[in-house]
Amino acid sequence: MRKFINIHTHNKQTEGVVSVINLGDNYNRCLDFNPCSIGIHPWFVTDTSFKGQLDELANYAAHETVFAIGECGLDKRCETEWLLQEKAFFEQIKLANRIDKPLLIHCVKAFGEVVQCLQKVNSKVPVIFHGFNRGITVARTLIEKGYYLSFGRSLIRDQHLESLKACPLTQLFLETDDAELEIETVYNKASVVLGMPVEALAVQLHENYARVKKTKFNI
Ligand SMILES: [Zn+2]
Repeated sequence: MRKFINIHTHNKQTEGVVSVINLGDNYNRCLDFNPCSIGIHPWFVTDTSFKGQLDELANYAAHETVFAIGECGLDKRCETEWLLQEKAFFEQIKLANRIDKPLLIHCVKAFGEVVQCLQKVNSKVPVIFHGFNRGITVARTLIEKGYYLSFGRSLIRDQHLESLKACPLTQLFLETDDAELEIETVYNKASVVLGMPVEALAVQLHENYARVKKTKFNI
C-alpha cells in the first residue's frame, strides 16, 4: 500500500502518511518539517510586516524540505486590504517561479482574480487549490487550466461531490487542513464517491505528488 499524501495540514506528522505541514510564519521551522509548505497567508499580511515576511520567506523557500509556496492567495472575506493581498500574492507567485516550486493556493470568493494574477505573470509552476469547496462550474474552469484541486472537509460534509467526480484523477489531491480529521477518512470517502479502491487512489495521488515535486524518488 502506498503511503497516503496529505497535501495540506496544520497538524503534526502522522506516521505512515506524507503530510505537507503548513507553516505560516517563523519559516526557519521548515528545517524541522519535511515536507512542508511555507507562505504568507492573506489573513496575516500587514503593510508594515510584509517586507520582512517576504525576505524571510525568500531565505528559506529553496530549502529542500519546502515542497510548495503557500498557502497564499486572495480572500474576499478577510479584512486585509485588497491591494496588499494582491501584492503579497504576486510576489509569492514570482518567488515560486524563480525556484520552480508549486503554489498552494488559499482562495475565498476570488477564483477569477487568482487565475488572472497567475496568468498576468505567466506562472509556469504547478498550482494546487487547497480546500476546494465550490461547485462544478468553478471546478471545471480550474481543471481546464491544468490546475490541481485538493479536497478535504467538504467531502466529509457531502458538499460539492460533483466537483470531485469532475476532477481528473491526475489533477487530484486530498487534505485535512486544520480539521480534526484523519487523512485516511478523507481517502475512504473519496474512494466511495469515485467508486475506486483506496489502494488505487493512493497510487494515483502518490504519482501526482511525485509529478508536482518533479521527483522519481520513493516517498
Ligand atoms: Zn490551511
